[in-house]
Amino acid sequence: MSTYQVPRGTFDILPDESYKWQFVIKVFREIAREFNYKEIVTPIFEKSEIFERSVGESSDIVEKEMYKFEDKKGRVFALRPEGTAPVVRSFIENGLSLKTNSSKLYYLGPMFRYDRPQKGRYRQFYQYGIENIGSTNPFVDAEVIALAYRFLTKLGLKNFALQINSIGCKNCTTDYDDALKEYFNPSLVELCSDCRNRLLKNPKRLLDCKVKSCKAIAQEAPSMLDYLDEDCTANFDKVKEYLTAMEIPFIVNPKIVRGLDYYSQTAFEFIDTNLGAQNTLVGGGRYDTLAEQLGGKNMPGIGFAGGFERLILSMEEEKLSFGLQQVPKVYLVALGTEARIAGLKLIMEMRRMGISTEYDPDKTSMNAQMKMANRTGAEFALILGEDELKNNNIILKDLTKGEQKIIKIPDIIKSIKDK
Ligand code: AMP
Repeated sequence: MSTYQVPRGTFDILPDESYKWQFVIKVFREIAREFNYKEIVTPIFEKSEIFERSVGESSDIVEKEMYKFEDKKGRVFALRPEGTAPVVRSFIENGLSLKTNSSKLYYLGPMFRYDRPQKGRYRQFYQYGIENIGSTNPFVDAEVIALAYRFLTKLGLKNFALQINSIGCKNCTTDYDDALKEYFNPSLVELCSDCRNRLLKNPKRLLDCKVKSCKAIAQEAPSMLDYLDEDCTANFDKVKEYLTAMEIPFIVNPKIVRGLDYYSQTAFEFIDTNLGAQNTLVGGGRYDTLAEQLGGKNMPGIGFAGGFERLILSMEEEKLSFGLQQVPKVYLVALGTEARIAGLKLIMEMRRMGISTEYDPDKTSMNAQMKMANRTGAEFALILGEDELKNNNIILKDLTKGEQKIIKIPDIIKSIKDK
């Protein structure tokens, strides 16, 4: 074993895997563009208060999972555990708005949560997400969900289901929280210690506890949907109507509450029906009070985030394509000092022309260089020896077909470009 290993719950994206990441990131950017979302990049650390005030003191993220630290001047920061609060912070700070054409935003990047690592759950993980800030119109809810749906389907995923819910507004939740307290109180001793705490602070959270016994008790809990006020019900109906109009299949699941405090009304998850315990591919919802919680003016918003790790796991499970592994187009095999120097010049010219080119920096035999050429997966080998050089020639060998021909050196780039 090597002296040092990656920190627990983190991983290296190795060269043979990175093309998968590049592929899903590329497709996500394309879809964001289709829907006219622009990228926003925020720092990886923020004042920890930003998460405490928005995600909520009683959420798992803030209570147990934040990587919090003091800098040299005693300021308290946190590695960002999620992307929404930083985006909304930036939105307020920079006066972004619909008017400045910057209310539809997407982000990509690492998030950090101190949690028990397992398949699909890491301490550093990579999220893609979008935020649409400024409108309460249920059209926007449906559009945000449609973007996630389009992304997953564009990748070719089939084994997933969209589940939606409305968790109402402040107006509806007071009565609902009371109903939940009344329902869960008689079973208090059978609940996990987290749920016992949650019952006081945020009873809705009991509905998405993953502990088996809690899940069983929550089975018959009152449904949020019975407690929605008129506005929230009408809104939810519209979201469903628009999704249906866009032919996006969904299931209403009143148990979806999302773990963070800032959500209200529409909440949704895309669940992978094949993955094990960590099966939420994408989670999102509306957060109409978040901007105010962060000191801005009343500014509604809705968004989602998904993890690339689970996405890639799902794609592997469904045996989907990630495009091609990166391979050089050309491998230069040069023999003899002069040919190697001439080859070096040629390599640089080819690279300038956008042809990816590889070579062997050490002086090895023709055989060894040809073996390397094949191992890299290059399409062509260019063979340059002293004799060829003298005659201004070079051998172009098609490594897939095994055919080769002699070409004049000044014509070689054009011949390769034409292939
Ligand atoms: P959340 O921010 O908790 O709503 O999570 C949104 C999505 O991010 C989830 O559906 C996962 O795909 C992904 N995710 C959240 N936490 C983790 C984690 N610890 N490891 C890997 N992916 C995660």
